[in-house]
Amino acid sequence: MKSNLIVGAGLSGAVLASLIADKLNEEVLVIDRKEHIAGNIYDYKDKETNITIHKYGPHIFHTNNKKVWDYLSKYTKWNFFFLKPNVIIEGNCVTLPFNLTTLYEVFSNKMASDLEEKLISTYGYGAKVPILKLRENPELEFIAQYIYENVFKNYTSKQWGLEPDKIDPSVTARVPIYISFDNRYFQDKYQGIPLFGYTKMVENILKHKNIKVKLNTDFKEITQKFDRVIYCGAIDEYFDYKFGQLPYRSLNFDIQTINQEYYQKTVVVNYPNNYDFTRICEHKYFLNEKSSKTVISVEYPQSFELGKNERYYPIANDENLALYKKYKDESQKIDGLYFLGRLGDYKYYNMDLAVERVFEFFDKELK
Ligand SMILES: Cc1cc2nc3c(=O)[nH]c(=O)nc-3n(C[C@H](O)[C@H](O)[C@H](O)COP(=O)(O)OP(=O)(O)OC[C@H]3O[C@@H](n4cnc5c(N)ncnc54)[C@H](O)[C@@H]3O)c2cc1C
Repeated sequence: MKSNLIVGAGLSGAVLASLIADKLNEEVLVIDRKEHIAGNIYDYKDKETNITIHKYGPHIFHTNNKKVWDYLSKYTKWNFFFLKPNVIIEGNCVTLPFNLTTLYEVFSNKMASDLEEKLISTYGYGAKVPILKLRENPELEFIAQYIYENVFKNYTSKQWGLEPDKIDPSVTARVPIYISFDNRYFQDKYQGIPLFGYTKMVENILKHKNIKVKLNTDFKEITQKFDRVIYCGAIDEYFDYKFGQLPYRSLNFDIQTINQEYYQKTVVVNYPNNYDFTRICEHKYFLNEKSSKTVISVEYPQSFELGKNERYYPIANDENLALYKKYKDESQKIDGLYFLGRLGDYKYYNMDLAVERVFEFFDKELK
């Protein structure tokens, strides 16, 4: 029987611990330097209002992967939830992603119906067209430019601290125009918020006789030897940044309690223009919680600075991925050491993809 150390009690670490404990019947020590489990998906009940707060930003679970959905559903019930965000355009709060509903919210009926017809005849109803692609089409240049200016350009610049043309296409693709009246942000088959919160879900995943969890514990404090170390922290930090630091974008969440029942009409409102922040999230909507007060978080993008703030989004350009590869190659020289998760792989994963990645890792490396 092998001994296992998992560094990081986030979703990736917890899912892997449960597989090792359950399927291999081996013991696992899971450590985290934070004072709580669940990593980036940690949520907690605000004492004053009893509203569940997503501490590190709004998290909506959505997937088409039935295996992932069924696995997580063993550990939580769900509040079936469809994200229907809004965006402020020219002072009006309208539907996001920019879709056919939005056309009628921002333009006259005549203009909206002309555009609707052109979009449907060019791309087909139901198509999702990345904004930069739409911009290449001369017939639709006006609407492309309108969306680009009002929804995409400044939001993306604020989010990444970059000009839009410096941004990796995979990031741009995440901001589509949706040729549909379906106002849901995601169309995945399974969507929801854990009914008792993400932290409770992770706690349930970690509940196993073979799993021990130690919080407030940094990997550097561990002196015991393990057959396997699976490190879900930042790969550059593990190697003491010997090739240099991997850059990330960070966020600052200004969490405020407001003395009124609702602050905005939906869970997330984006502010592409006019302000330093990018979006405001009103947390009571996730679980439809009732309170005479409400809690919002105002999201300010910023650079990641070691020791000052959290790593949020890896900046996936060629230079940074080449740097990541150096660390990855280095890690492969060490027997029994593996890297996993959004920080270990230096990759943005939605929650379902993080779980999928753990399943694949387990099947390939440990089974
Ligand atoms: C702002 C934001 C919003 C998001 N929204 C969504 C969403 O709506 N839907 C969706 O599907 N996904 C969303 N995601 C993605 C989601 O957060 C990730 O998929 C998930 O958190 C990945 O979990 P992880 O375990 O890989 O990483 P993490 O949750 O970061 O876990 C890593 C853990 O390792 C610990 N650790 C690191 N180094 C050490 C060390 N040296 N010693 C001890 N412990 C250490 C950390 O404290 C942390 O707890 C969002 C991400 C961000 C940044």
